[in-house]
Formats: sequence, structure tokens, C-alpha cells
Amino acid sequence: MPEPTPPQQSAAALEGRRPVMPDARILLVDDKPELLESLYQLVQLYGYQPDKALGGQAALDALAEHTYDVVLLDLIMPAVSGHDVLDHVAREHLDCKVIVVSGDASFSGVKHALHCGAFDFVKKPYEAAQLISTMEKALRQCVLEGENLNMEAQIKASEELHRFIVNASPDLVYMLDRHGCFTFLNDRVRSMLGYSKEELISRHYSELVDEEHMELAKNIFNERRVGNRAARNVELRLKSRHRRHGARFLEPQSVWVELAAQGVYSDPNERNRQTFLGTYGTIRDISERKEAQEVINFQAYHDLLTHLPNRALLKDRLELAITQGRRNKRKLAVMFLDLDRFKVVNDTLGHSMGDRLLKAVANRLQSCLRRGDTLSRFGGDEFTLLLPEVRTRDDVVVIASKILDRLGSPFVIDGHELFVGASIGIAMYPEGGDSADSLIQNADIAMYHIKSRGKNGYQFFSEEMNHRFSTRLSMERELRAALNQGELTVHYQPQVDLESGRITGVEALVRWAHPERGLVPPSEFLPLAEETGLIIQLDEYVQRRAFENVAAWDRAGAGQVKLSVNLSAAQLEKEGFIDQFVASLRDAGLAPERVKLEITENTLMQDVEVIIPKLKQLRRLGASIAIDDFGTGYSSLSYLRQFPINTLKIDRSFVCDIRSDESEGGASIINAIVAMARGLKLGLIAEGVENRTQLNYLRQQGCTEVQGYIFSEPLPADEMCDLLCRDPFQEIVMKEPAPHESAASNLPPTVQNAG
Ligand code: C2E
Ligand code: MG
Ligand code: MG
Repeated sequence: MPEPTPPQQSAAALEGRRPVMPDARILLVDDKPELLESLYQLVQLYGYQPDKALGGQAALDALAEHTYDVVLLDLIMPAVSGHDVLDHVAREHLDCKVIVVSGDASFSGVKHALHCGAFDFVKKPYEAAQLISTMEKALRQCVLEGENLNMEAQIKASEELHRFIVNASPDLVYMLDRHGCFTFLNDRVRSMLGYSKEELISRHYSELVDEEHMELAKNIFNERRVGNRAARNVELRLKSRHRRHGARFLEPQSVWVELAAQGVYSDPNERNRQTFLGTYGTIRDISERKEAQEVINFQAYHDLLTHLPNRALLKDRLELAITQGRRNKRKLAVMFLDLDRFKVVNDTLGHSMGDRLLKAVANRLQSCLRRGDTLSRFGGDEFTLLLPEVRTRDDVVVIASKILDRLGSPFVIDGHELFVGASIGIAMYPEGGDSADSLIQNADIAMYHIKSRGKNGYQFFSEEMNHRFSTRLSMERELRAALNQGELTVHYQPQVDLESGRITGVEALVRWAHPERGLVPPSEFLPLAEETGLIIQLDEYVQRRAFENVAAWDRAGAGQVKLSVNLSAAQLEKEGFIDQFVASLRDAGLAPERVKLEITENTLMQDVEVIIPKLKQLRRLGASIAIDDFGTGYSSLSYLRQFPINTLKIDRSFVCDIRSDESEGGASIINAIVAMARGLKLGLIAEGVENRTQLNYLRQQGCTEVQGYIFSEPLPADEMCDLLCRDPFQEIVMKEPAPHESAASNLPPTVQNAG
């Protein structure tokens, strides 16, 4: 083997030269110590710090222990040859460049070496410059590869960061190809819509869009435009696999989203069909905002208790119905419905019970209606119904009767049986009004009309009603004037003791002597007086007049009857009421013992803390107290016990129910009231007694005092004075009735006329 050329380069020639890779790890392998040494010196001379391995085995050992950038390897060595080392490097995937330095320059040897992964080949004897340049070429390659690796790592890190940013976004981010199929979706798609990215990739975007919004999504989801013209803030619904709270099983779900999208082009300066790549878009879940909006909208147009449309929505629908009615020459009807006895429930059983009753009423009303009819709650216990398609009055009558019938059976709430009737006023388009406001107002007037005529019924509006009191407002104005001008007068109805037949008391009842309308009964104006607070002034007036009248009868020698006056809740609750009451008595010169105060059961339930002390004070003064219309409220025995009362006055409706044949209903209630009065040691009086059957029944039950048309209707003061002087009822009362006798035939002439 020829001797290798020893290093000839002088240190001076190398001055200013810098090693390609000063910290390169280099292994020199040769089985000949002197060759190894000279190679070592040469490489060192060029500024490197190589390791040496004497022979193949030493090389394998070194490779096992350290990593090397470059190995200068002798091929022909005993035992472990250069080829063996090369094989080892390949097998172990060692990341080092092997330069074969060998005297075996045969083609097959070199080829084999290169085939086995050698980086290059230098023939022995080598020239120092060539060997170093080959070695440095390998080192340069190492440096380059190192830099590449570094860059790759950086790219990878930045890619991960971007992926993180995209996936962590609260918005769904997507890309479509030019055909509208997904090429990218971020992780948000799963939490927002319940799909995995994998199952959506390559699928068309339309598979995600709610059917209803397909038209809207077209050209928006797969937007081609960019910049200001691109889609932004587009609200639509997407299909979702998530089950929303409260949704029914298998109901298809959707999510409200807001979408922004723009076209993506391969050349931003050249946007056309050819350069269009697809769409980039972001999708934001706005279902919470939408839900909040829906709630707000609902609240604006619905009554929150019953969830029925409110006044505003009704008016809207009514206006629409009028427009259609006008166009199609069709009729429509508006019903104004007011519950008759709701206030009683609310006042006596509490608001929560009242609320539940209203809901139950709303449900029942709804069951009477057809599709297309609108039931709305107008406030309080008032409901309004719009029937947009009726042909005749009879159609409306059918519905009104159905409603009254349904409301006729009791509501059972919390074990209480509650009875509520309704008064229904009806106005029909066009004859009963041609605008939403006038129809509602006229239905309201008609409702008031029926209410004042004894409630629980329906009434169509007629123009003539408008002549009476065209509006509640005008009635209020007139009532105020009436109070000041003395148009209110007081009539008196006698109360008769069934044992002696003598008139023991009279009840003062207000009348309105209207200059045009004649004598107006209290049922027509008292509800309004109560609503407006005029009732306080009215009651004071009636009481003053009554006290004066009774004092005058005393002077006329008419006998010392008791005077019953009706007291409203408002008057009773008013501060200073007792002082004023006492002053009126004093002014008339009447003792408090002569007066009985009639308070309805419902008034009694209102503000117990205020009322009880006042009643006690009145009792101490000497006045007595009766509960009027007893049996119509919901007071219990234990409740009544707290009140300082003297008498129960059985409501007219129960007396009215007493008939000779089937007297079950009213009679059984009367029995209960009689038992109650006995239990509480209270006096008992029945009102509204019109015939002998009723009179006898009441007497049998032990009710000893009665009031009613059987004796006399309410009379003006002078006529009452006259009646008192005559005291004419003893005969009829004493006389035992024959079964066939009619009540009227037994009455004295004055009374017959009166009744
Ligand atoms: P009320 O206190 O229960 O009075 C009895 C009502 O029954 C009176 O009606 C009376 O005329 C009527 N009536 C008496 N006997 C018979 C009969 O045999 N058959 C029939 N069908 N009815 C009979 P009116 O005078 O129309 O009074 C109605 C209600 O107005 C009274 O009921 C009372 O609650 C109230 N009211 C009357 N005057 C006043 C008043 O000055 N102040 C207050 N706060 N309320 C009054
Ligand atoms: Mg009364
Ligand atoms: Mg009464």
C-alpha cells in the first residue's frame, strides 16, 4: 500500500483561516498507528479536535459511546473492516457522515462503500488539501442540515401555535373549497354543533344549514366577495346535534349563529373564477342572545301570568282583522269579558290564589275558542276576545253561551271550590264600531251594561247604550255633579220581625234621581263610584240624609226603628271615618244605638288589621254590625269569630233559590248559615224575600227577621214615614198561610202596588 502524503501545510499557510465548524465532532479510524497519528495532526492543524480509533472495533466502541458529525474511515482493516463499520452506521441509523479514506480505489470497493451510505471517498495516499476540503464539505452539509432541522422545528412550533389559536377561538372557523365543501373546520365545531371535524370535511356546507334558512345561506356561507362587500353579521340557524334544554326527544335541533365569510384567492390582485380557491368564514353562537331577545319580545306582547297576548298584541290583530273584514265585507266580533267574582277570591284568599284562578280561567276560555280567535288578557280580571270570522250574531251567541257555561262550573284550586261567573259585552264590526278602539270601548260599555243588570250574562252593544252614559268618563263627571247638586236621594226598605209582625228596622238605599234618565239604581253607578273613590263622599252623604230622616220620623212619632246603612270598604278604611260618623249622628241628634252598619263579607276580608279595631270602636259607641250578602264570600267560621259582629244577613241569591218543589241548593246553604249564626250567637236577617214560600221556609228554619218585596220595595223617606206610622204587616205575618195562597193576595194595597 503506498504511503500517504504527510501533512505539508505549514501553520503560516493556514493563518486567518477559520474552521467550518469549530466544535465539529470528528472520528478518525485507521488500523495503522502512524497513519492515524498523521491524519490526526493534519485535522488538528485545521483547527479541529478529532477523536482517534485504532482499528474497526475501536471505531465501533467510539460510535457507541459518542455521536459524531464526520468519520474518516479506513476501509481495509483486520477483524472489523471499514465495511463493517459502515454497515453498523447504516443499521443503527447513526447520523454521521462517513468519508472513506482508503488505498482500495477499486471501483467495486468505492461503489460498495458509497452504496452503504458513505458520504464521499478519498483515495490514499491523500493530498491534505483534498482530504480537508472533502471533510469540510461534509461538515458544511452538517451545518446546513442542522439549520434546516432548526427551521423545521420553528415552523412546527409556529404551526402548533396557530392551530391552537384557531382551535381555541370561541368562534367556529371554516374553509370551503370552490365547490362549497369543507376543507377545514376548527375544534369548535364539536362543542357548537356536535359534529366531528372528520365527518364534515369534504361535505357540502348546505348539510349544516337549517332548512328554513337555506335560501339565506346561499352565496353567503360560500361567499366569494372580499372586503366591505363580503358577508358580515348574517344571522341564520344551523343544524345541531346537541339536545337543548327542554327539547323533546328526537326533535331536530338548531342553533342561532352569526356568520362572517369572505372569498379566498390564489392571487389577491387577480380575483376571478380561476384564482378563486374557496371561502374562509367564522361562525358565532348567538343562541343565548336570541333567546333573550325572544323573551323580551314575548314579554312585550304577552301577559306574563297567563301567557296570553296582551292589549298591544290584541290591538294589532284586531286592526289586521278589521282591514281584512273591510276588504272581504266580513263581520267580526270583539268580546269584553269581566269576571264577576274574581275580586272576592283575590281579596279573601290572597293574590296567589287569584293568580292561579286567572290561569285556570284563561285555560277554560281558550278551550271555547277556535283557531284564529285571539284571547287576550286586558289586565286584572278582564279578558278580551277577538273572533275574526263570524257570519251572524248567532255565531257569537253560541260562543258567549259556551263561555258562560264553561265558567259556570266551579274551579277547584287547593281544595277550594271557586265560583266565578262572567259578564260579557260584545261589539260587532261594523255596526258596533269600525275601529279597534271603538270596538273595544263599545264592548266594554256593553259589558258594564250587563254587569249592572245582575251580572253573569252577555250583552251586545247598541247605539242606545251610548246615549245612556257614552263613556265611563262621562258617567263619572255626571256622578260628581250629582253629588254636589243633591241628585242623590235615599230610599228605605222595611225590615220586619216575623214573631211580632212589626217593622223593627229600615235599610237606607241610595238612588240617583237623574234629570233625564229617571231613577238610576245603585248597581249602575256604585261600581264606578268605588273605582273612582267617589263612594266615600257618597256614603257620607247617604248617612247624613238617613240620620236626618230617621230623626225627623222620630219627631213625627213613627216609632223607634233601627236604621241600617251600607258601608263601603273605602269609607271604613278611611282615616277619621269614625269621627266623621259620630259628628253626623250628633248633628242629626241620633244615638249610635239606633244604627246598624251593613258591611259585605268581602269588605270584611280586606284589611283586617285596620278594620277590626274600627269595628270594635263602633261597637263600643253602641252601633251594631251586620254582615251583608252573607254566604257569597269565603269566610269560615273561625275567621268570623274574630269580628265583633251582631247579625248575619243572608244573601238574596239563597233566598231566591227557595222554591216549594226543589229547594235543595239555596235551602241547604241557608241551613248552614242558620247553624253558623246559632253557633256564633248572632242575629239573623234574610233579604230579598218575595213570596210566602220563602217566608215560611225561613221562619221554619228559625230566621225571625226578613226584608223584601213581600213587604215593600224601598220607598222615599216620606212614604216610609207613613208606612212606619201604620206598621201594617202584623196581620199577614201572624196569619198561618194556606198551601194554595199566593203571597201578593195577602198584602195590603200599598204593598201590592209597591212589590
Ligand atoms: P244590599 O245592601 O244587599 O241591598 C239590598 C238590595 O236588594 C237593594 O238593591 C234592594 O232594593 C234589593 N231588594 C230588596 N228586597 C228585594 C226583593 O225582594 N227582591 C229583589 N230582587 N231585590 C230586593 P239596591 O237598592 O239596588 O242596592 C244594591 C246594592 O247597592 C245594595 O245591596 C248595597 O250593597 C249597595 N248600596 C245601596 N245603597 C248604598 C249606599 O248608600 N252605600 C253603599 N256603600 N252601598 C249601597
Ligand atoms: Mg245592605
Ligand atoms: Mg245584601
